[in-house]
Amino acid sequence: MTFEQIKEQEQTYVLHTYGRVDAALVKGENARAWDVEGKEYIDFTAGIGVNALGYSDPEWAAAVAAQAGKIQHMCNYYYCPENTALAQELSEASGMAKAFFCNSGAEANECAIKVARKYGEQRGAGKIVTLVNSFHGRTLTTLAATGQEGFHKDFLPLTEGFVYAQAGDLESVKALLDGSVCAVLLEMVQGEGGVIPMEEDFVKGLEQLCRERDVLLMIDEVQTGVGRTGTFYAYQGYGVHPDVVTTAKGLAGGLPIGACLVSGKLGDILKPGMNGSTFGGNPVACAGARVVVRRVGDPAFLQSVKEKGAYLKEKLEAMPQVEYVRGKGLMLGVKLKGKDAHEVLVECAKQGLLILTAKELVRFLPPLTITKEDMDQGLAIFQKVLEQ
Ligand SMILES: *Cc1c(COP(=O)(O)O)cnc(C)c1O
Repeated sequence: MTFEQIKEQEQTYVLHTYGRVDAALVKGENARAWDVEGKEYIDFTAGIGVNALGYSDPEWAAAVAAQAGKIQHMCNYYYCPENTALAQELSEASGMAKAFFCNSGAEANECAIKVARKYGEQRGAGKIVTLVNSFHGRTLTTLAATGQEGFHKDFLPLTEGFVYAQAGDLESVKALLDGSVCAVLLEMVQGEGGVIPMEEDFVKGLEQLCRERDVLLMIDEVQTGVGRTGTFYAYQGYGVHPDVVTTAKGLAGGLPIGACLVSGKLGDILKPGMNGSTFGGNPVACAGARVVVRRVGDPAFLQSVKEKGAYLKEKLEAMPQVEYVRGKGLMLGVKLKGKDAHEVLVECAKQGLLILTAKELVRFLPPLTITKEDMDQGLAIFQKVLEQ
């Protein structure tokens, strides 16, 4: 099929929920991808931070294929060794006690919200504080958790019980903690909101406030997690100990998975029958995730993410068309001087570079395994586009 035929098919048969760019990708290798016409791209997207080990990493692909050839799925009535092993490995990497597995970031947050509501149930505390400009998912409940009006307005009424505080403003959180709140949910770096890192003082203050008021500290690591910011989870870079952590995107290196991790005190809060997922903990996804967790969890790998991030940041800051760069590790937002981020994205694709946007910023989430050569080639294309 030609690209034009694929585009025609999409327009006829697929709901138009995405503003797509003119490229149909059919093959990839680490940070390089090829489209249906054979054109090559450098990839600074990793599929929105999903392909942690790049496209089709050989070790990851072999583990996934081997598992598919052994047993691809079983119902959750039975024990799944790939699943239990991943749970232990995630506990060791995160310091959290136990995991519930599902298939996406939104579902992981749904589980976190259930845990919080159950925690507050006895004392009638069902409200959850989230932050203005946050992003927590597309289901009706996680949309309600998302502190952005624009996402709400077409789908009212949403799940009730969410109240919004200002990021960086401890007093605005405090003002909402009136005894009816069971949890605070936030991202360490707001991703969709424009790549905005939280200040360390705010996060530490929030942890203390949550402890004093018996409110759960819940961190949405769906985008920031699994090495993206240079620590296994971003909260580890802040030195805080959350009660609940949600993780998805990069976790299985490109297969659908999500997990809600809880601390020891919440290990038995959900009883049999209180949550479930047909596909959750699927052995093929878990086999892929185990390769990712082992590779990314290596301190030398995490150090390389920090170094690559610093290198990209330095090179970008030196470009005269760049106003500023913010973010952590390989999660970077670039504010351009007098250029529209989406127009730059479209032009970059034409020139052979795949990038993302977040609000009015250009966003880079390259595979964590990207080479210096590919970073340089991508930067050269980006520079050329900015000069046009
Ligand atoms: C992407 C994202 C989600 C939603 O994840 P899905 O897998 O698309 O449901 C939730 N929270 C954050 C911070 C995200 O970046």
